[in-house]
Amino acid sequence: TTKRQQYNTVLRYSPELGTERENRLRLEKELRGAVARGELELHYQGRFVLSDRALDGFEALVRWNHPRLGRLSPLAFIPLAEQTRLVLPLGKWVMRESCRQARAWGFNERGLTMSFNVSALQFEDDDFVQTVQDALTASGLIPARLLLEITETLILRDLERAKIKIQQLHGLGVQVTMDDFGTGYSTLSVLQTLPLNHLKIDRSFVQQVQQKSDPNNPARFVLETILRLAHRLDMQVTAEGVETAEQLELLGQLGCDHVQGYYLGRPQAAAQIEAEFELG
Ligand code: C2E
Ligand code: MG
Ligand code: MG
Ligand code: MG
Repeated sequence: TTKRQQYNTVLRYSPELGTERENRLRLEKELRGAVARGELELHYQGRFVLSDRALDGFEALVRWNHPRLGRLSPLAFIPLAEQTRLVLPLGKWVMRESCRQARAWGFNERGLTMSFNVSALQFEDDDFVQTVQDALTASGLIPARLLLEITETLILRDLERAKIKIQQLHGLGVQVTMDDFGTGYSTLSVLQTLPLNHLKIDRSFVQQVQQKSDPNNPARFVLETILRLAHRLDMQVTAEGVETAEQLELLGQLGCDHVQGYYLGRPQAAAQIEAEFELG
């Protein structure tokens, strides 16, 4: 299912059935006050060094604890937040909260990295770089401990402007990665023109490789090619959506740098993460 279909599903099954338009307007109105009412929450998913499984950091993933509908996935409200520009205050909150948490968990001293996802509207906003700087200053997090995830689709909307923005972010000292690589329409050659040193391979590629035994598996060949090229360009590669031991083993054989996925750890609330990783 596409993100749009999932988003519509949530609206269609809301308890007090109105028309889809009414539900949408209602959700929009509710989203408008969600940050102020403290209804947003970040969950954190570990990212690990593949070679020794050491913890490398976490990705912050937003959830909306909706009073009527329960906990909503970002796929159910980020598109609406984008359409209504509410993603700007929402994104600002995500940024500040994830930086605050990273500092509180000792990332400066531990050398761990916090990442969060950036929406297109947010990235293209004129104040974006300043907002990142403000979140760093407010939290006291070292810029190098922060990794921004921007999608391939976002970068392709305006390649030249994206390059400039990425360079400005590097100027602050933060790291930037291309998320969901392979789902957009860039050719591999776009990679060499981008000032990026991180790449996240979309989970659809990881999940197509089930048989580690078959070296001629086309999905394996695609992964291998992306990894080889990325490494030639001095990029570090993270594979997302690792769900099985076989996938992990194959990624190890292919020399992938970092891994993330349910097999290694699901996104969890801060309290669970703290207990599991002895942070805080
Ligand atoms: P993403 O950045 O690609 O994040 C990975 C998504 O895959 C997360 O879903 C995560 O829970 C899920 N995932 C992780 N490991 C596995 C696995 O092994 N198998 C499977 N099937 N899924 C896995 P989630 O949390 O629902 O987030 C969905 C998307 O929503 C994210 O995709 C990101 O694009 C967006 N998003 C999340 N938080 C934010 C945010 O704070 N701001 C913005 N703008 N977008 C966000
Ligand atoms: Mg991401
Ligand atoms: Mg991703
Ligand atoms: Mg993805």
